[in-house]
Amino acid sequence: MKERVGLFGGTFDPVHCGHIRAAGEVLGRFSLDKVLFIPSFIPPHKERGGIAPACDRLRMVELACRAEPRFAASSIEVDAGEKSYSIITLEKVKRIYPGAWIFFVLGVDAFLEIETWRAHERVLEECLFIVMTRPGYRLEQADRVRGGSRGEKVHHVSESEKIGEDLFGARRIFFLPILALDISSTEVRNRIGRGETIKGLVPEAVGDYIRSHHLYRGT
Ligand code: ATP
Ligand code: MG
Repeated sequence: MKERVGLFGGTFDPVHCGHIRAAGEVLGRFSLDKVLFIPSFIPPHKERGGIAPACDRLRMVELACRAEPRFAASSIEVDAGEKSYSIITLEKVKRIYPGAWIFFVLGVDAFLEIETWRAHERVLEECLFIVMTRPGYRLEQADRVRGGSRGEKVHHVSESEKIGEDLFGARRIFFLPILALDISSTEVRNRIGRGETIKGLVPEAVGDYIRSHHLYRGT
């Protein structure tokens, strides 16, 4: 059987329990061997006020990935030290895992922006996609993104469906309803800024890291 690798990219500023919960569900439903959490590098001059440095965001992802042996933090974009495009990251990952099924894992909010990605047509062709529900967004909204001739390649995964390899050849984009948690990094940062607790919103080790490194306190 071919190995199955999920790529879960994001700013992860910071990684939170919504990310962990979502990645865990995808892992189970698609029987993935690995989910790589890939924090993006953001050029320092582009960092909006309060964004944590790449090394801190990566470290927090490493701590969060301890929740599950098949989760791994990847420094592939942080190490690049420049803005990374998905197509470049994907090609690097493909060299590391030749012959594996590669799945791009993302929330519907991120998928709705895919047409703004560089070479998005190629990204869509070169890997499989798992688009997950996110509170505030309906999965059906994503339909309009991949309508037309590619529309028929979309597969809406139903609740009890067993997802077999036979599907991967014909379908490229899977819409997966998950039990998503209504948590965002923005909310976590805002709560810290207001001096409120973030207990339960981020893994404990991430909360400890944020406190000991005085992250997101504002100025
Ligand atoms: P921000 O508020 O800063 O945008 P975020 O919570 O959206 O942060 P990102 O790092 O932007 O986190 O997201 C990375 C990926 O995780 C995206 O594909 C996004 O759709 C997905 N994601 C984020 N939060 C959730 C959640 N609660 N449930 C499911 N998917 C999520
Ligand atoms: Mg986001």
